[in-house]
Parts: sequence; C-alpha cells; structure tokens
Amino acid sequence: MAKDKPIKEILAKEDAILEAKTTTPLVIISCLFILVSFYFGLTFSKNIYLVATTVGLIIIFGITNYIPKLKFSQKHIPYLISYHLALAFVLIFIMPTISYFIVFWILLAYLSEYFYQTKGLAASLVALFATLVAGLYVQNNFNFESLVTYAQWFIIIGGASLVFNRIILGTKEVRKNLAEKTTRAEYEHQRLLALINSMAEAVLSVDEEGIINMYNSAALDILNTHSDLNNKKIQGLIELLDNEDNPVDIMEVVRETKYISKKTEYHIKRSDKEIIMLEINISKAGSTTPINHQAGYTILLRDITKQKSLEEERQDFISVVSHELRTPITVAEANVSMAELIYKREHFSDQKTLDSLQKAHEKILFLSDMVNDLSTLSRAERQDKEMDIETFHISEIIKEVIDLTEDKAKQKSINLETEVQSKISDITTSKLYLKEILQNFVTNAIKYSSKGPILISATKNNNGKIRLAVKDHGAGLSEADKQKVFDKFWRSENPLTRETEGTGLGLYISSKLARRINAEIGLESKLGYGSTFYLDLPALATQKVDQTNVVKNEARNILG
Ligand code: ADP
Repeated sequence: MAKDKPIKEILAKEDAILEAKTTTPLVIISCLFILVSFYFGLTFSKNIYLVATTVGLIIIFGITNYIPKLKFSQKHIPYLISYHLALAFVLIFIMPTISYFIVFWILLAYLSEYFYQTKGLAASLVALFATLVAGLYVQNNFNFESLVTYAQWFIIIGGASLVFNRIILGTKEVRKNLAEKTTRAEYEHQRLLALINSMAEAVLSVDEEGIINMYNSAALDILNTHSDLNNKKIQGLIELLDNEDNPVDIMEVVRETKYISKKTEYHIKRSDKEIIMLEINISKAGSTTPINHQAGYTILLRDITKQKSLEEERQDFISVVSHELRTPITVAEANVSMAELIYKREHFSDQKTLDSLQKAHEKILFLSDMVNDLSTLSRAERQDKEMDIETFHISEIIKEVIDLTEDKAKQKSINLETEVQSKISDITTSKLYLKEILQNFVTNAIKYSSKGPILISATKNNNGKIRLAVKDHGAGLSEADKQKVFDKFWRSENPLTRETEGTGLGLYISSKLARRINAEIGLESKLGYGSTFYLDLPALATQKVDQTNVVKNEARNILG
C-alpha cells in the first residue's frame, strides 16, 4: 500500500539524528568532565562508586540513543526526561550544583524546546529550578548569599537558554510558518495518496534498481498478491512476456524510458488460460530528489485484456463482413456493367435507363472501393500480424501501379510520368504495403486533379533514404487541411475535391502501413497548385524491419 506518512517519517528520522548528534558529545564531554573533576577532587561526592556508576549509566544511555537498533523508544520524551534526571542527579549528588557543569542545561533546554516547543522549554526550566533547590538542600548551603548565587544562576541559565533557542530555532512566527507548511505538505501528500489508491490502474513507484517504494491497491490486484510490496524488487513480482511469450525484464523496459513512454505489447500469465494484456505507462522521476537523492520511475499498469478482445472482435467483424461483401458486389458490378454494355450495344434509346444503369454502376464501384478500404484497414490495424518481406527494385512497383491506374488517368487525359534515379538499388521491405501506399497516392492524384502531368519519382537523399513521391498539379490542400489529411474518414470540404466520391480512409491506411514498414509519410501542397505526397523509406529498409515476424505470403493473404 502507499506508504502512510512519509513526510512525518522523514522528519522523525531527521529529529532522531539531531537528538543523537546533540546528545552524544554532551554525554561524552559531561562524563569526561565528571571524571576529571573527581580526579582533581573538585566533585562534591567523594564516592568513586557513585561517580563511576553515574558515568557508566550516562554512557550506556547515550549509546542506546545513538544506535537506532538499541533505542528503547521511538519518542523523544523518555530520553529527554532521562537526560534531565541524569544531569540533575550529577548536579545534586556529584558535582557542586553551581559549577560550570550547569551550562549543559542550556543544551537540554534547547532539545526540549526543539521537540516540544514552549512547553518543553518551560518543563526544562522548571526541572532546573527544582535541581537548584534540591542542590541547595542536599549540599546544605542555606544562607542568603548562596540563595542569591543560585537565583543568579537560574536567571543566567534560563536567559541563556532563551537567547540560544531564539537564535537557533528562530522566532515563534518562523516556526509556526514552518509547521504550517509541513502540515500542508503532509495534507497534500495524503490527498495524493488517497487519489493514487482510488485509481483503477496499478501504480508502482520504483527506484533505479527496481525496488518498490510506493504502490496502490490496484497494483496488488494486478500482481495477484496481498503481501507488502515495499522494498521488494519489481522484477520478482511481475513476469512480463512479449508477443512471442518470451520473458522480458520489466526494468529493461522501464529503463529505456527517457521521460514518458507507453507500451502495449506485453502481457502477463496467471495460468495457461488467464492472460492479462497490459498497457504500461512509464514516467521517469527527476534524476535527483532532495529527499532520497535517487532517480526513479513511476509505472502505471492497466489491464487492457477486455479492450483488446473487443478491439479484436471489431476487427474480425469488419474483416469478415468486408470479405463476405466482396463476392456479391463483384457479381453485381459485373452484371450492371454487362447490362450497361448490352444497352449501349443494342442502341436502346431510353437515356433515363442508361443514366440509371451508369449511376448504379458508379455506386457499385464506390461500394467496392469502400469494402476494399475497410478490408485493408482492418488488416493494417492488426499490428501484431506478420508481413511478407521481399527484395525488389522500386521501379517494379511503380510499373505495377501505373498499369493499374493508367486507364483512369487516360480518361481524364492526364499523363503519368516517372523518374527513378539510377543510383537506387534494390530495397527489402513489404512490397505489398509499398504498392498499396503508392497506388493510393497515384489514385488520389488522378482523382483530385483536372490536369496533368502526374510525376512518380524515386530519389535518394543525402542520408541514404529513398523518397518515393507522387506530384500532381491538382486541387492542392490548404494549410489546415494538410494537418488532417491522414486522419481516419477525413475528406476535404473543398468543393473541387468533394466532386469525387471517396471514403477518407485511403491516406489513413497508407499512414498505418507506412508505420509498419518504418517509413515516413508526408506531403507538400499548395491550395490550387497541386500536391506532392511522399514516403521516405529507411536507408536500410531491410534491417529496420523485424525479420523474426516474417512469414511468407501472409500479407498477400491479408491484402489479397
Ligand atoms: P478519399 O480519397 O477516399 O477521400 P483519402 O484518405 O485517400 O480518402 O484522402 C483524404 C482526403 O484528402 C481526400 O478526400 C481529399 O480531400 C484529400 N486529398 C488526398 N489526396 C489529394 C491530392 N492529391 N490532392 C488534393 N487533395 C487530396
């Protein structure tokens, strides 16, 4: 569970250090003082056993306070009372009460006020008063002169304590402010803890080594445990698996994070049947915090099993429906096309029927495009599916795409031109995806242009990347439209482009496919002048693609 009161704990630790640091020299010096005084016959007590026992007790007590493990109490009050008693005992029974030894009382008054404020100081001064009276009585010094001396010493020590404390501990105002700030910080901290504990996501805070220093109740649920996680290594508690069920060290995943990162490719297994898909959000805490001088990470784990399976179901649905729709649409398209042909061939004169047939044909073609897009989209969204990697020359796909789009370009009297730099050698990537993207660029260029030419080019830039570009002289896109062009279902409001039908999915799909082959997609465009859509392929298209995922012909099945 999230630690209860860290601020208080930290302050308590600092207090304990202060107390030990202040009292240890006090103990050592005072004991030496007593022994030296005894040696020179300056002590009031002539009894060596009494002196030795007192010194021994004070030393043992000082040590127990200094070593946390030996400490008999976590509170300061028993120690303060014991120190007061020890000093009072020494002043009454061993040393002359009015000796320089009494100066140590100033330190005790300081500690008393430090831990218990004004009340502490008052109690310490009352104890001093009582000690002086007892000393007077025990040492049988009752006369006017000694009464005045004792009173003088009480005023000197009391006054010195007050001045010393004001200088060291600050004014009442300063201390009040500090106390208020501490309380507020603590309150904020408690609120934050309450918030973290109420979160549905598991939150774990770890240091560089993976040692957990804070967690919430949801973390216990995800890690399937009830034990205290504080100071335990996260590696032993969570067995992360990647897509291929290989174990992954969570701290390796965590340490990759520079600022913030989100991972969705890992899961954990409770049993063979129960697999929990995780979304892991990692954020790096500042390199050093003033409190523990440690860098650390906050890990947020979200169970996305349900979400993933819903997503998969949705994708399956789209993929099945679009696949099932293909056949009837193809049959309908063939029939309408045939009817249109017969109608034209037989020279039927009913223009209305011909118009209807043409319209129906257009709509069926649109429907067919849409179903194809949906099908491709659902495949492209399945990031986990393997793709088919091939080595080929870029001219090959340019040629294939031209073959597919030439007719449409001709219908609009647009010339398709190509320019492939000779220094471009073979590339290794998914041919199918690349062709899909290029075909999209070219189809759009034809669709959204009324004049040509359209230039399909492949160039190599200075950093070795190959740029595959399609340049048109068509409608172009406004600055605002350029930002949205790769969004799902987005189509420009520009009346020039609205004339043509489309789904707004082509470029979205292209951007998804581009990401899968580690290519960068982009455009340059000026409204009314034309656009250039391009794809920057990584210099070594081969190495960047994860070869382990390659299963031949898989992508062909997917996109085919
Ligand atoms: P669709 O073409 O089916 O509408 P796309 O995702 O391919 O879907 O394109 C989205 C939108 O981007 C298009 O509707 C069009 O407004 C704009 N667009 C795409 N390519 C071009 C282009 N070459 N010139 C002008 N506008 C374009």
